[in-house]
Amino acid sequence: MKNIRNFAIIAHVDHGKSTLADRFLELTGTISGKHEAQMLDKNPISRERGITIKLAPVRMTYTMRKSEIRNPKNETNSNSLEIRNSDLEIGDSKFILNLIDTPGHVDFSYEVERTLACVEGVILLVDATQGIQAQTIAHTYKAIEQNLTIIPVVNKIDVLHAKIAQVKQELADFLGVDEAQVYEISAKTGKGVEELLKAVILKVPSPMSSVIARSEILRSNSGQAPQSQEIATLPMVTRNDKAQALIFDSYYDKYRGVIAFVRVFGGEFRAGMKGYLHATGTTFEINEVGNFIPDLDIQDKLDSGSIGYIITNLKDIHLCQVGDSITDSIKTKALPGYKKIQPMVFSSIFPTDPDAYVELLESMEKLTLNDSAITYEPIYSTALGSGLRVGFLGLLHADVVRQRLEREYELSIVLTSPIVKYEERRENGKIVYYEPIAIVDIVTPQDYVGAVMRLAEQSRAVFLHMDNKSHVYLSYEIPMSELMGTFFDRLKTLTSGYASLQWDFKEYRQADADKLTLLLNSEPVEEFSEYAVAEKAYVRASDLTSKLKELIPRQQYEVKIQAKFKGKIIASSRISPFRKDVTQKLYGGDRTRKDKLLKKQKAGKKDLKNIGSVEIPKEVFLKLFQNKN
Ligand code: GDP
Ligand code: MG
Repeated sequence: MKNIRNFAIIAHVDHGKSTLADRFLELTGTISGKHEAQMLDKNPISRERGITIKLAPVRMTYTMRKSEIRNPKNETNSNSLEIRNSDLEIGDSKFILNLIDTPGHVDFSYEVERTLACVEGVILLVDATQGIQAQTIAHTYKAIEQNLTIIPVVNKIDVLHAKIAQVKQELADFLGVDEAQVYEISAKTGKGVEELLKAVILKVPSPMSSVIARSEILRSNSGQAPQSQEIATLPMVTRNDKAQALIFDSYYDKYRGVIAFVRVFGGEFRAGMKGYLHATGTTFEINEVGNFIPDLDIQDKLDSGSIGYIITNLKDIHLCQVGDSITDSIKTKALPGYKKIQPMVFSSIFPTDPDAYVELLESMEKLTLNDSAITYEPIYSTALGSGLRVGFLGLLHADVVRQRLEREYELSIVLTSPIVKYEERRENGKIVYYEPIAIVDIVTPQDYVGAVMRLAEQSRAVFLHMDNKSHVYLSYEIPMSELMGTFFDRLKTLTSGYASLQWDFKEYRQADADKLTLLLNSEPVEEFSEYAVAEKAYVRASDLTSKLKELIPRQQYEVKIQAKFKGKIIASSRISPFRKDVTQKLYGGDRTRKDKLLKKQKAGKKDLKNIGSVEIPKEVFLKLFQNKN
């Protein structure tokens, strides 16, 4: 265990995590010869979009000379937790390095948090052309909460306009460390990478020293020996033989069942043992255990302190959730920190061809075999037929799923703009609405602070905190409906793409909200209705009614469009009747031409949907759904 280092790379999206991982893989001889760039980005869409969606762990080995072991680059580290590994007796000089490349996007922050619970240290990577961004900050706070050793690194120093000195300073200030402790590398050219790898060995505590360090912290916090309950609250290696492992990812394999990616915190796991999953109360038999190299590499056992995989014989990935613990029996306690992942935004998905519903359903079933964060249920719309109501972690997640359905499953689909869910609760005989609130952290260049603050104000955000460095860091509480609505896009536009943000769900909070119901000739139309808060209901209602007025073609009757909120009509408009005689322009003329035209008009009618007495072309639904905001 002394020679194991478990570490992760945290960074804002595109700052170079996967590229650095490639260099580590080459340096350690884990992969040789030609390989694709960003090896660990397994998902093809994540590769194409340059973002890591799936966590890809890897086990590497590296041999370090004894003379080097005694001479770490920086003698001091402000991280109080660190017991320098060089102070421990190091048996031989071959090290096992378990690296987890964390997902870089805002939607996956819980997975990042769980990943960080599985390691003792992190490389904090910052792009020298960008500086600290929102995810840099959010992930660093998570690493600090978990008492991890942080190695700050400035990347992309090969780029001509890189602001190396400035970013180094910024990073040192942010962490409160000396500038000399910040490493400079180019993940692209490999410059400085080997020194960084050595720093990981020297600075990141081994799983064993971290146990000692963590108990030391408890001791120094309270001034006395740590209580066993206190120790139990920390994810750490236990010294008894009770087997405990934390799941940081899982996937479903057609042939082998669900494969859990784990960090072992106590005891050992072997094939043939029983495993118990706490969150879902599931017992299974372990088929196989092993390491990632980065493909699966079978082993006799997984020891305490190691990172690897456990093959279950389970067929349903939902039984094996990120953040849950696998233990040897129901009697062994679970590791702390488990939260059920909740979808945060919801869209309806319809097949463009209503007959393709079954295909959509089957594709979705297959897709969720490997994506336990998605939820879905059947819905029916008068306009668009059978479809699915699908829950996602966030906007990017929704977009990835859409792309997968279109590309991998070759479906033509309509996805309505994602909206958040309000909760209706009955309190003292009255319906009370609750809306989800998030904490959002924004990093922006100075020039845009005013614009960002105005946007936040318009978006019902409550100011929490501000930090004024070379970039400005702003923190707010914000309703998720605002965040998932226009906030993302407007922030990007306002700041010419220079601002970044990170969000985390906080809680459901009571809101002055109700359903905003759209009526056509006094009949409610479910598809056009949505939830709104009182503050925004009037503006939204008049937007919707005037948009519909534009979109719905004239009919033989007058069409009355109304919006109802809290039992009152708060906006309305009308479309005056119009009789369209398509044959008029033919001046009598040729009979067959006239017939053709009438036939064409009839075919066009197939795409019209009757809502009560009003005929609405399918396009109206599509336009309204897809550009709700
Ligand atoms: P990730 O999102 O953090 O995993 O970032 P990637 O590793 O996918 O890198 C994002 C982009 O930056 C890619 O186009 C990389 O080729 C590029 N990149 C990464 N590191 C460097 C570097 O050190 N120098 C230069 N010039 N480009 C880099
Ligand atoms: Mg990546």
